[in-house]
Amino acid sequence: MPGCCAFGCTNRCSKGFKLYRFPTDPQRRKLWEVKISRVGWKASNSSRLCEVHFDRHQFESGRADQKRKLKNSAVPTIFCHRSILKTRKSPKKRQTEVTNNLNKHTSHLKDHSYASNPSQRSSSEDSASTEDEETATPSTPKLQVQLQTQMKQIKKFRDALRKTRKRYRAIVKAKTKQNAKFSRIFAKDQLESLSRVNMKGLKWSSYTVKKALQLRFACGSSGYKLLLQQHYPLPSERTLQRRMESVLFERGILREVFDYMQLKVKEMKEEERFCCITLDEMSLTSKYEFDPSSGDILGNVTGPRHSGNADHALVFMLGGITSRWKQTVAYHFTSSSTDGSVFHNIVLDIIQRASNIGLHVVAVTNDMGSANRAM
Ligand SMILES: [Zn+2]
Repeated sequence: MPGCCAFGCTNRCSKGFKLYRFPTDPQRRKLWEVKISRVGWKASNSSRLCEVHFDRHQFESGRADQKRKLKNSAVPTIFCHRSILKTRKSPKKRQTEVTNNLNKHTSHLKDHSYASNPSQRSSSEDSASTEDEETATPSTPKLQVQLQTQMKQIKKFRDALRKTRKRYRAIVKAKTKQNAKFSRIFAKDQLESLSRVNMKGLKWSSYTVKKALQLRFACGSSGYKLLLQQHYPLPSERTLQRRMESVLFERGILREVFDYMQLKVKEMKEEERFCCITLDEMSLTSKYEFDPSSGDILGNVTGPRHSGNADHALVFMLGGITSRWKQTVAYHFTSSSTDGSVFHNIVLDIIQRASNIGLHVVAVTNDMGSANRAM
């Protein structure tokens, strides 16, 4: 898109200005050209003039579509004209002219060295010299020199700005690339911990805790401590323990325990994955108690299809056959009158869940109590 054709105006569509075509009527077109007063210049069909050269009376008012349209009789009136009209010279010629002008002005100052120190001049002298200068050289070329130097400065700043923007974009690009690489290794909370001095108040996500537990199981306590010593962004062992303690420990099957066991099982060798389910019953003193953490009253039988107060706890455990490990995976409060057959499905469920996480249950052991035999 072309820019505005008025002298000294650099407005373009891309800068958000509205540009107008020249009238097709030869007389009106001539009038616009006169107003623009660029010597030896004629408007072509692609010439445009921007909106700032028209006062508000030149626009149609009260249009329903809110468009800014010129009246048919519109004439541009607002220009920052030069008092002396000149033909436009090539940039090279203009450049030499500017330097010549500058030299002239500085030599002028040398001749009248008093001019460089205004405090030494009397007021009468001052007015005289100014008048002198006014008559000798019109102020327009001087202003033009100023304008040219300022334009040059603006160009310099623009160049600098462009370079800075380019550098900024390069930095942002590099940073996003780097972050993408980091996020492949570390989670968001781990990246945050890297930029911190103190880990106080940092909330580790359950994803990171799981990842850390996996590491902890794989390399053992001393290995994990070594990682922490080398400033790997991981939660402390104490944090891991606390998280394990807060695992939901409701009666029935402990689903969260299976989630954490999965991490451990991943690090086990194939032969270590063989295990057996152990059922053990222990007697409890029969009484009711309020659990403030869950808001429940404990003491009732919890097994399916049973009620009454409990006097036993039945614990389901998984234990390794070729290696030493055991884990409680379910429990229920029972009473001596409990029918053991209802635990049949629980054992099947445990076998299913164990095989889901990669364990192989090969046996079920119990103490052959009456309830256990019924199961
Ligand atoms: Zn313009």
